[in-house]
Parts: sequence; C-alpha cells; structure tokens
Amino acid sequence: MGLRDLTDEITEAVFPSNIYCEVCGSLIDRSRPYALCDKCVTRMHWITGSTCGVCGKALPDTYRGFDESGRQVCYDCRTRAHYFTRGWSCLSYGLHEREVMMAIKYNGKGYLARKMGDIMFDRMETLIEEARRQGIKPFDMVIPVPVGQKRLVKRGYNQSEFMARQFLRRWADADRESEFDPTCPKLETHILGRSRETAMLRSMNPEERRLALRDAFAVNPALAHRIEGRSVLLIDDIYTTGATADSCSKTLLEAGASEVYLLTLASGGNRRPKDE
Ligand SMILES: [Zn+2]
Ligand SMILES: [Zn+2]
Repeated sequence: MGLRDLTDEITEAVFPSNIYCEVCGSLIDRSRPYALCDKCVTRMHWITGSTCGVCGKALPDTYRGFDESGRQVCYDCRTRAHYFTRGWSCLSYGLHEREVMMAIKYNGKGYLARKMGDIMFDRMETLIEEARRQGIKPFDMVIPVPVGQKRLVKRGYNQSEFMARQFLRRWADADRESEFDPTCPKLETHILGRSRETAMLRSMNPEERRLALRDAFAVNPALAHRIEGRSVLLIDDIYTTGATADSCSKTLLEAGASEVYLLTLASGGNRRPKDE
C-alpha cells in the first residue's frame, strides 16, 4: 500500500463515504455515483448543453450572444473581461447543489468534496482524452483556491483542495490505463495563499466583491519560480461573479504564469447567491 492509499484509508475512516444519499437521506450503496441516490442525481442541474465559452456557465437554449471571435459568451462575460483564459463548470447552482455545498462546508462532510472531484473529472474527461491523443499537456499544474486561515482552522480542510486531489487522482489513474504519454498536471497547494482574511461575500454585489478581494491573494515568493511561464488550472467550488477567480488569476499572471484556466463545481448567475 502506498502512502496515498494510506491517506485515503485514513480519510475514509474519518470521513466515511456511503450509506445515505447526501441530499435526501435515502439509503444507498457505495456503487451509487457521487454519494447521491438515483433520484437526486436526476434532480441536480448537470451542465450538458451549451455553455459560456469564457466562464463555462450554462446558457439557455434560446440565448444568442457572441464575442468577436464568434464564441457563445454569457452576458456577464460580455460586459466584463476576465483574467482567466477559459473556464469549465459541472453544475448550475440550484437548491440541490446548495445543499451539497452546505454539507461540505458547514456540516463537516469533507469526504463529499472528493465525490465532487469525481464529478469534475467526469466533466473534463473528454477534453483530457482528446488532448492526450494529440500529445498536448493541457495544464502544467492545478491550484485549488485557498481559503482563509480562520475558515481553514474552523472547517479543518479546504474543500477545493479535496476536490482537486480527487480530480488529479482520477486523471493519474486514467493516465496509467492509457497507451499515450501521461498528461496529469501537478498539484500545487503552497504557491497561492491568502494575503489577508476577507469578509463573507454572500451579501455583496459584484463590485463589492471585487473590492473585497482586491489583493486578497498572494504568491509565495520562494515558490514563484515554479509558475514562471507555466499554465495553471485553478479549481474552485462555486463560481458566481468571477471575483474570486479573477483575483487569483490576476495574482498568478502577475507572478509569471502564462495562462490561467478555471474549473468550478457549480456556477450560477449574479442573483446574489446565499453563499460562496
Ligand atoms: Zn437522494
Ligand atoms: Zn461567462
């Protein structure tokens, strides 16, 4: 047994996965995907149709909005430029998604974040496979959005880091099964940090969020050389206005990253969501 498996076993013991559907509490077994019962899986808002070519949010079928290069782009991204190059998202942030996020962030169900990492990998699998076939390494490294020290102590973990770890575990597994060269990026959890504590964003409008997050992140100077000229995939749980993703991306680009991409579990509109 490798150290990684051992860590897994310990996590499993501390955060047991299985038995009950995380949304409705129905009895399930371990074979059910993402710790959700069949009913709740169908109730989640999976992003399968057309998406914004910039942030990855779902677009309504009737939506018609394009940027100069002819990409379909959501209203928010047409009115505001982003620092990240492109984003992907797995779910539209609705009631069920919110319940899952609340369980992960406030009810100590950190193991669920790993299930969410599975969702993220499944979302990206086609793209990863295509890149591998073409001999392209899509990203040099994965960086989870860091949480503030106070929140980290209170929660005991960074949910985005749990998601990123599982996402990369699945990617490494897929590499091993592939006949092509491995493409799995490295996980970097010490390069990007919070430079200060920030207020809760939940009640803020987009402009307030941007102000609250200005210079809230920093690159560790001792590790800055690692991102020089490298592409980064930033991983976060929820995307709403993009203020967090932009603040992180700006910091990484200023420190020398070549490009920043973004993968989020769930995304929603600017309707002042209850939590971020
Ligand atoms: Zn259920
Ligand atoms: Zn967008």
